[in-house]
Amino acid sequence: MNTVRTTCPYCGVGCGVIAQRDAHGAVTVRGDARHPANVGRLCVKGAALGETTGLAGRLLYPEINGERACWDSALDEAGARLRAIIDQHGPQAVAFYASGQLLTEDYYAANKLMKGFIGAANIDTNSRLCMSSAVVGYKRAFGADAVPCSYEDIEQTDLLILVGSNAAWAHPVLYQRIAAAKQARPEMKVVVIDPRRTATCDIADAHLALAPGSDAGLFVGLLNRLAHKQGDRFDGEEAAYAAARDWPVERVAAFCGLAAEELERFYDDFLSAPRVMTLYTMGVNQSSSGSDKCNAIINVHLASGKIGLPGCGPFSLTGQPNAMGGREVGGLANQLACHMGFEPADIARLGRFWGSERIAQTPGLMAVELFDAIGRGEVKALWVMGTNPAVSLPDSDRVKAALAACPLVIVSEVAAQTDTSRYAHIRFPALAWGEKNGTVTNSERRISRQRPFMPAPGEARGDWWIISQLAQRLGYGDAFRWPHPHAVFCEHAALSGYENDGARAFDISGLAALSREEYDALEPVQWPVNAGSPRGTTRLLAQGSGWRQEGKLHMAAVKPQLPQARVNAHYPLLLNTGRIRDQWHTMTRTGYVPRLMQHIPLPQLDIHPDDATRYGLIAGALARVHSPLGWMVARVNLTTAQRPGTLFAPMHWNDCFARQGRVNALVAPVVDPHSGQPESKQTAVRVEGWRAAWQGEIFSREALTLPTEMVWWRQAAGALQHYLFATDSQAPEWAAGLCRVRGWQVQYARGERFAHFLAWREGELQLAFFGGETAPKIQREALLAAFVTPPADAQARHALLGANAPGNQAQAGRTVCSCFSVGENSIRAAIADGCASAAALGEKLRCGTNCGSCVPELKALLAEAAHQPGGGERVPLKLL
Ligand code: SF4
Repeated sequence: MNTVRTTCPYCGVGCGVIAQRDAHGAVTVRGDARHPANVGRLCVKGAALGETTGLAGRLLYPEINGERACWDSALDEAGARLRAIIDQHGPQAVAFYASGQLLTEDYYAANKLMKGFIGAANIDTNSRLCMSSAVVGYKRAFGADAVPCSYEDIEQTDLLILVGSNAAWAHPVLYQRIAAAKQARPEMKVVVIDPRRTATCDIADAHLALAPGSDAGLFVGLLNRLAHKQGDRFDGEEAAYAAARDWPVERVAAFCGLAAEELERFYDDFLSAPRVMTLYTMGVNQSSSGSDKCNAIINVHLASGKIGLPGCGPFSLTGQPNAMGGREVGGLANQLACHMGFEPADIARLGRFWGSERIAQTPGLMAVELFDAIGRGEVKALWVMGTNPAVSLPDSDRVKAALAACPLVIVSEVAAQTDTSRYAHIRFPALAWGEKNGTVTNSERRISRQRPFMPAPGEARGDWWIISQLAQRLGYGDAFRWPHPHAVFCEHAALSGYENDGARAFDISGLAALSREEYDALEPVQWPVNAGSPRGTTRLLAQGSGWRQEGKLHMAAVKPQLPQARVNAHYPLLLNTGRIRDQWHTMTRTGYVPRLMQHIPLPQLDIHPDDATRYGLIAGALARVHSPLGWMVARVNLTTAQRPGTLFAPMHWNDCFARQGRVNALVAPVVDPHSGQPESKQTAVRVEGWRAAWQGEIFSREALTLPTEMVWWRQAAGALQHYLFATDSQAPEWAAGLCRVRGWQVQYARGERFAHFLAWREGELQLAFFGGETAPKIQREALLAAFVTPPADAQARHALLGANAPGNQAQAGRTVCSCFSVGENSIRAAIADGCASAAALGEKLRCGTNCGSCVPELKALLAEAAHQPGGGERVPLKLL
């Protein structure tokens, strides 16, 4: 049994994981009780990591133009084509687009190659979409991208504010830590500031359901209340207070759509609490004025003195496992490495350290402008590393068009098929979690090791190695001859301390001399780690001074602004986008785990019941959502958690898992002027119900190319392909034609309003099609068993076609607890039988007793039942 301590590859909480691989290759995981970030806990995604280590869907060999190639050929081809473009059009004609999924060592290598040797700063990252506004906020206030807080402050605070954060779903283990702190100290107040009533509100003393995008007004109003403390403590203090003076509580209440009394209560809580933490994330950052919102939050902590102390501070949560590592190495286009900028002294210092005269002199293109430049033909070569911009960037159809027109697209990937890699001329197979070796940094500046416990499959290689090999093809080999990621890490650590003397916050020079053994054994540690703090640093700003030249902290003058997206007669609703509980990014891992697909199996459109009535939508039915840029199809979910006039849809689905499921096809490429972060949280849309002529499900041994007029969603189903579909065209004729072409023997049950058939080849079930005007009921377990062991007699085979037998899904209902596959109907039945608490439900059904991610939903069902005693059973997977 191979047992390794490593780190979860999903969100920025950065949980420690103990992974075990047995002699047969089976992987099991559990939380690492010694890791300070999670102390043994894992959420449902982390707990399912062992189910994601298979090789299905992996890219295992290099490819040139879709054909397998050897490494030398692929690297030579990429190097020669990049060199030709650089020589002909200059270094600004090439760009890298990297990822918060890369390890720090990979990120460092990519940044060094682009900014240090190619000589342009055109390396940006998907972290631009995640927390670049938070970076601007910290840099403006402190002079450095320095998160002052730690998770351990949660247990020491008196008031914990969550702004624009559904931590219960997006940072589940951190949320559970907050919930545990609240349980231990009920006097600790929790306030959630969010237009939606999310699962996070479950533990909140107050929920301020403010108007979308109005957060800055709320915090500027609080600064107004703090104005009596005015002094000469901070740069910009006078201007910041002057800007706040125009925001009395009445104006804030009108701006935010809140009652003046609830604002007063919140302001009183903030003023009276000795220790306050404000946790914020995408709801703040993903805005056309996200940087100002971050500074509005930081300002109130500076003005009140609630910063740099235990239990205090403005705490930006990172979305990705290594967004912070990317910030450390300078992975954003407007930074140089190790917290250096583009001042002449920084450029010269980097040139000395790297031994290069080609250091980029000016900031490069940020994500949205980068793809604009590709579309205009100015950038002619793009290398995408471990990310999927064709799905995640706003106006994603335009991104796809830019990729299609780009003369050279290189993709380093784990997955064989992604929406982005379809446009790649050259594909490099990268190592995945469990195979790769290096470090990541979580939201609280804690550096942890990701350690391998599986062999490299096929010819996959670490990203740092691929970059170093390509650097050699470009003629920069001497600077990239690392034998192991340990050498990359030590170089990065040495650079962080090079001519630093306390001028730069990021300093891990205390780790620069680690031996290979020490690197392998490195315990989680928070930076800075240097001679003054050899064991790391829990909290920053304790001395009250920052990293600005004169050492003073800075208050930015903030003028609150509403989103640029505005509703109108044609597009009367505001669409919000974000994560759901059991999926991760573009589903390249979590989309293949059946139990993670159960909670929300297809894109879901949350809408207030009043709006649903107004626009003729039915719970569980399909709807089309349109913006001026594109449209998507989602299943309607009625919920009073949604403010009237607003919608919510998940950001995960893409062309590999659905047709018309990409929400970013609707989102406008409007960005914050300082950070370049897109306004992903607000898009003006309209919605209409869609009653498709045919709907149903297809199970198939082989992946199918479904007709273009068919809207479909792919489900994880082990070795089978499973599709839900809806269409106005003749789906049964298409499916029957498919079977005819293949010469399969087809068994029918067909009526005016439905068509079911099974296709057999030499006694083996190949395909099962169930379509009708309404959602068919399928004997799911019997059908899946028939793909493995065909029923012996004709009668049993025919029974599989039956239209009326209720399926198991219908009996159990929508899956709420993914760990133990407990459905909503089972939970409702248990509540009707007398279970009156989440603990009682856990005792009876086991739901909520493993990772705990579903506990807020259990409580919501309990609360709903308390308000509607005797409420009827719900039909779960109803498309129409
Ligand atoms: Fe992984 Fe985040 Fe869940 Fe922790 S909370 S197990 S880091 S996804």
